[in-house]
Amino acid sequence: MTSLLFVNAAQIATCAGAARARRGAEMRDAGVLGAGHAVAVVGDEVAAVGARDAMERAYPDAERVDCGGGVLTPGFVDSHTHGVFGRARFDEQEMRAAGVGYMEIARRGGGIHASVRDLRARSEDELTALARERLMRLAAYGTTTVEVKSGYGLTVEDELKSLRVVGRLAAELPLRLVPTWLGAHEIPLEYRGSPSARGDYLRLLTDEMLPRVAAEGLARFADVFCEPGVYTVNESRRILSAARAAGLSLKLHADELDPSGGAELAAELDAASADHLAAVSDHGIAALAAARTVATLLPGTMLFLGKSRFAPARALIDGGAAVAVASDFNPGTSPTVNFPLILTLAVSQMRMSVAEALLAATVNGAAALEIADRVGQLAAGFSADLALFDASDVREIPYWYGDRRCRGTWVRGKPCHQYELGIG
Ligand SMILES: [Zn+2]
Repeated sequence: MTSLLFVNAAQIATCAGAARARRGAEMRDAGVLGAGHAVAVVGDEVAAVGARDAMERAYPDAERVDCGGGVLTPGFVDSHTHGVFGRARFDEQEMRAAGVGYMEIARRGGGIHASVRDLRARSEDELTALARERLMRLAAYGTTTVEVKSGYGLTVEDELKSLRVVGRLAAELPLRLVPTWLGAHEIPLEYRGSPSARGDYLRLLTDEMLPRVAAEGLARFADVFCEPGVYTVNESRRILSAARAAGLSLKLHADELDPSGGAELAAELDAASADHLAAVSDHGIAALAAARTVATLLPGTMLFLGKSRFAPARALIDGGAAVAVASDFNPGTSPTVNFPLILTLAVSQMRMSVAEALLAATVNGAAALEIADRVGQLAAGFSADLALFDASDVREIPYWYGDRRCRGTWVRGKPCHQYELGIG
């Protein structure tokens, strides 16, 4: 078995502690060690973290990885992306800037239905090539685990096609990918003629699409876009209850634009996460604080759309909830692959401390994917997923905003992305 010893880091943010979501005051300590420590990796796991001298004696044959005075962290866990899509939608950005509304952009052929039309017209191979290149860009910024949703197909075959792309890339790429079925991303245009057509699509979701997704083992999670004008709370409950019965774990797009009770529904259903939450109510915050459900905040979306209202991270953490952050990487509202930029927004816009932001990007992202028992920490027994940054203090990661400071990532003890500066 290969063994590695990461030495000569200025700091190691271990994020070590309980192997579950950290909530409230538990998010204040990211377990940062100073110089003179080392991380030993044996096979695909972290074997030990400790004083360098002792580690040098304990692992004399390990290959040394010289961190060059940089900062070592657990690889980031991006627990919310829509990484399988076709055409980029850069044409809509200027329209929005000029004050063109969402409905008018849709009328001009933009919006989510543009992505649906586009994805349906592409082959699985074509989508795989596009997603491969985009997902490796995420790795270049320090991300080692990526949740990827379907949701631009909205037919049985196109949703299965999207999830098969994730499955193929999970087997091929060094990144850890987690697939989520989001057949309930929107009501497709062809089912909008009448209330009965809407009912037909809901039946298609639960009676045809979901059984195929479950039978072929194509997704770990089911997700629904619960928002006024998209799926109601009752429809979301119905779809997610069917998904749970089919063996999937649950996520929910909740309270992005209006406080419609999405957070409360996610808590009621014991979902792994409730995502967005920019408009969550006080009642919703209390429900999440009392539940296992991780509050996953997506500040990149608010930045890109030019909105000033970010999710209330402070109220959630101070109220005792577990908060994660994610990129929401998607072609319409958050086309960023830069996870450190999400940390910048967490600190500068949502007023989280650097320790809170780091735990939100690692341990709590893993909890939102139900893998916090083995991912998200630099501690013995955890998957050897690491990111190395060109910085001497962990606080520099959100500070140099927009910069690509990541020098390399490792997933399961194997190099994933190595930046041109070179390692060791
Ligand atoms: Zn989303």
